[in-house]
Amino acid sequence: MLYSREMSALAGLRCPECGREHEADRLQSVCQACDSPLLACYDLDRVRASVSRADLAKRPPGIWRWAELLPVRSPACRVTLGEGETPLLRADRLGARLGLGALLVKDEGLNPTGTFKARGLAVAVARAAELGAKVLAMGTAGNAGGALAAYAARAGLEAHVFMPADAPAVHRREVEAAGARLHLVDGLLDRAGEEAARRAGRSGWFVVSTFREPYRLEGKKTMGFEMAERMGWELPDVIVYPTGGGTGLVGLWKAFAELETLGWLEGRRPRLVCVQAEGCAPVVRALDRGEARVEPWGAPKTAAHGLRVPRPYADRLILRAVRESGGVGACVSDEEMVQAQRELAREEGILACLEGAAALAGLTRLVRAGQVEAGARVVVLNTGSGLKGL
Ligand SMILES: *Cc1c(COP(=O)(O)O)cnc(C)c1O
Ligand SMILES: [Zn+2]
Repeated sequence: MLYSREMSALAGLRCPECGREHEADRLQSVCQACDSPLLACYDLDRVRASVSRADLAKRPPGIWRWAELLPVRSPACRVTLGEGETPLLRADRLGARLGLGALLVKDEGLNPTGTFKARGLAVAVARAAELGAKVLAMGTAGNAGGALAAYAARAGLEAHVFMPADAPAVHRREVEAAGARLHLVDGLLDRAGEEAARRAGRSGWFVVSTFREPYRLEGKKTMGFEMAERMGWELPDVIVYPTGGGTGLVGLWKAFAELETLGWLEGRRPRLVCVQAEGCAPVVRALDRGEARVEPWGAPKTAAHGLRVPRPYADRLILRAVRESGGVGACVSDEEMVQAQRELAREEGILACLEGAAALAGLTRLVRAGQVEAGARVVVLNTGSGLKGL
């Protein structure tokens, strides 16, 4: 399919495990052969020949500035609520206290619906609508549901959100406020995801749960593009990321690989640090043990709901991204999160969500353990606004 003014250089969908190609211009979920998430591939030669870093800088702000590297073909199908282009804030007081060369916080709390979930859902909803989906469904711990509800409303689609019954009230309310159907599920995120898949299978809805379709990842990777551009195409030494389902980690790594292939990066790619909660740390455990897969975490318990993911679907991609980058994992207690949240708000004026605060707490631990060296330039991802949790 070719549209006039098409900019996307989307070339196909590939399974990273078995290599099987999947037709990109129809709705796809996971690999038909091995159930792995699918990755979008782009004709990067074409991008290199058609656009430069200077061209990009002249475009209006927002994630759609990166249209060549996003999957939506028709400009008319783009959906936006003003997501992306979040500030990269210096945190000099905390950075100096930790002995870092630079400490920056990318504040994703400024996104529509208050979290970086907006980036992924903007792209996934737009692409699903472009490919003819009418009704979307997902299992979510909370924030992704709010973002789906908002972007589905924006695109004129129907949405069904399956959420653990103990999810914070703010998530239930924002889903209902945007007119999506809320289904409360007994159990944790994995149960909510199963229920979404079951009901969707019966009703012909399209599932946009984490990594069950290829394009939320594409929206998330714009964080990496923005970071690179904002830092003069010279990435930091370390990026610290609070990990649940892992789209952020995998998305950042994919973004950097694409920029590197385009020849747009100056210098090396950063080390990725994966931070999880002590009460739910399946990825950190697998990293520490050198395992190839992530074993499910028995009884996940943390107040940081975005991190309460007992069995991330994209486990192999997450482990590969962290290992290829030379990164490490770190766990923090809920108390350390609360303390880091207070510190970041009082010292720097940034009211982070608990998950973002966990990243800062994880960094603090790694600096003390000598695993992040003095003088390093570090970016901490604050994935959402602390206001949603007050
Ligand atoms: C979903 C979420 C996370 C975890 O993100 P993943 O990409 O699933 O690893 C972290 N913080 C917040 C606020 C979230 O909503
Ligand atoms: Zn496969």
